[in-house]
Amino acid sequence: MNTTFSCVGCGKCCNDHHVPLTLAEARMWAADGGQVIVLVEAFLANGLGLPTQQREHAERRSVVVRSGACQAHVAITFAAYNVGPCRNLDEDNLCRIYERRPLVCRIYPMEINPHIPLNPAIKECPPESWEAGPDLIIGGELVDQQLTELIQRSRQADRDEIQTKEAICALLGIRTTALKGDGFTAYLPDMNAFATVIDQVSTQSQIKSSSDWLFHVSGEDIARQVQAAGAQVATDTPVSYGFISLRAA
Ligand code: SF4
Ligand code: SF4
Repeated sequence: MNTTFSCVGCGKCCNDHHVPLTLAEARMWAADGGQVIVLVEAFLANGLGLPTQQREHAERRSVVVRSGACQAHVAITFAAYNVGPCRNLDEDNLCRIYERRPLVCRIYPMEINPHIPLNPAIKECPPESWEAGPDLIIGGELVDQQLTELIQRSRQADRDEIQTKEAICALLGIRTTALKGDGFTAYLPDMNAFATVIDQVSTQSQIKSSSDWLFHVSGEDIARQVQAAGAQVATDTPVSYGFISLRAA
């Protein structure tokens, strides 16, 4: 299938989208006075929580940690916390930091997950943006080399930075994850502490954290599966995080 695309500058993708950030971008977001949301999910070494067709992608962007008697693979996203319009969107729907906007802002509406094909129907871009403009995809292949390179950079940062992000979480006391596919745990760290910890970890030559992770799950049935695998389940009412359930109601 072929797709043409031309951004019409409607600004919709700059509203209510938590934009995933690289570590440097997250540090920049903090320096600018913005809020970062930390989203955490994990699967177990026995495969619980790991969808079969995304195995390699999920493994590459995760780090092995302990939970109780077993190993888990935790994936951590630092994202710009955008509820309503992004703090950088001006009255004319223009980006105030256009020249240094995050990678993911440059990639939209393309996906950064290679297992998710572009589906214009679920994107914010209005119909006219898909009706004219240069070719974006020909025969299922992305034709824009610059965009291809940006997507590669974003995926590479995901892989290169996961260990550092895990160490940052340890220093911030972020130790409860959701089970992949069941939901996410979401944290809104104090941004002064967040910036301090990023700077602290950046100066360390060896990054290592060893404390255990707990799982927050959506119900008793999943809790039993997680515990049967030897992992630890959180039992306290969450105070420092929220749980975003992906389970059908
Ligand atoms: S940083 Fe700029 S491009 Fe990215 S969401 Fe905010 S306003 Fe939009
Ligand atoms: S939603 Fe699409 S068309 Fe509108 S500004 Fe974002 S990328 Fe451009």
